[in-house]
Amino acid sequence: MKQVDYIIVGQGIAGTMLSWFLMKRGYRVMVIDDEKKNSASRVAAGIINPVSGRRFEPAWLYEEIFPFAKSTYDELSALLKINIFTERNLWTVFPSAQMRDAFKSKADKETNGKYAFIPQMLQYEDYLQQHFGAAVIKGATVNLKNLLPAYRQMLIGKEALLNEHFDLSQLQLVDNVQVTYHDIAAKKIIFCDGAAAAENPYFKSIKFLPNKGEVLIIRIPGLESSDIIKKSITLVPQPDGRYWAGSSFAWDYADELPTAAQRQVLEEKIQQLLKVPYEVTEQQAAVRPSGHDRRPIAGFHPAYPLIGIFNGLGTKGTSLAPLMAEHFSRVIAGEAALMPEITINRYFNTPRH
Ligand SMILES: Cc1cc2nc3c(=O)[nH]c(=O)nc-3n(C[C@H](O)[C@H](O)[C@H](O)COP(=O)(O)OP(=O)(O)OC[C@H]3O[C@@H](n4cnc5c(N)ncnc54)[C@H](O)[C@@H]3O)c2cc1C
Repeated sequence: MKQVDYIIVGQGIAGTMLSWFLMKRGYRVMVIDDEKKNSASRVAAGIINPVSGRRFEPAWLYEEIFPFAKSTYDELSALLKINIFTERNLWTVFPSAQMRDAFKSKADKETNGKYAFIPQMLQYEDYLQQHFGAAVIKGATVNLKNLLPAYRQMLIGKEALLNEHFDLSQLQLVDNVQVTYHDIAAKKIIFCDGAAAAENPYFKSIKFLPNKGEVLIIRIPGLESSDIIKKSITLVPQPDGRYWAGSSFAWDYADELPTAAQRQVLEEKIQQLLKVPYEVTEQQAAVRPSGHDRRPIAGFHPAYPLIGIFNGLGTKGTSLAPLMAEHFSRVIAGEAALMPEITINRYFNTPRH
């Protein structure tokens, strides 16, 4: 038997960050991941945005989340010798006068121009329809297409990765002191398996609200931008000169595959934004793992304390995962109590700690 401290199921951004912070504390981990092509982390654009939604509310805990995410990704960037974190402006085109007014009364004031302001001159005039003007929001992107495979290689080098589908029927809880999975024994197992957690019988009392997002990858001849461009659709520049254009939201969906209906919705939004022709080169779809209250879900099952979860990163995996994973690693080490907003206990009739 190979003995580790924690088995982690899933190497999306949740499993990557949690295994990283556990290893930094000296714990031995074994990550089991089946490298699902259309996992949320493999389809996401990795945008970090300081304001949320149509009302430009400051994002939850952003003052802590942003610097911590930056320092974590920069540390991994140096270690793995890849580019991960890029600070970028979000060139935010107002779709209406109301949105411009909402921005002026909210984002501009609440962030004191620190993260968001109206620029003196409109850019991209030859390419964008921007009758109501635009704002600049200071955000970032996380290059998950670099991070996930490079981190995986590092785990393989440490003999800490199993490239296979985890089969729950093979998990054994031994005398409530350890878990075993085939020839691996661990103190505990933590599921970071994204939307798949909703099918796990141990987590059936959690109110998951998974939602499907679809994306087009497009070419826009002539437009060269390092900014994210955002209206009712978001364009994120890709290293090969194309743009990630997304994304849609669907609470009801038949499967995880791209659909003609959402392609049409996305294309209509692109046409409302662009003045110039574009070409669609790919369409992708994935399911976002979300809880009912849009907060992360972390902790150990009250009745099965060897079984844990780190999930519910919703639309904000790249910004939330570093700080939340580090916090959970401190909880695991007995140095902190779980934040009440994220504890798994909110789904069980147990005290919130
Ligand atoms: C279209 C779209 C756009 C998005 N854009 C952004 C964005 O710009 N910024 C942002 O911050 N967030 C964005 N998100 C949200 C973000 O992708 C998620 O919050 C985040 O990726 C969730 O990460 P996760 O690790 O929890 O889940 P996942 O990324 O789904 O990872 C789960 C992992 O578990 C593995 N797995 C599952 N079951 C098993 C099993 N039985 N055995 C072995 N392995 C298993 C899968 O292979 C996968 O690698 C977007 C999501 C979508 C769908």
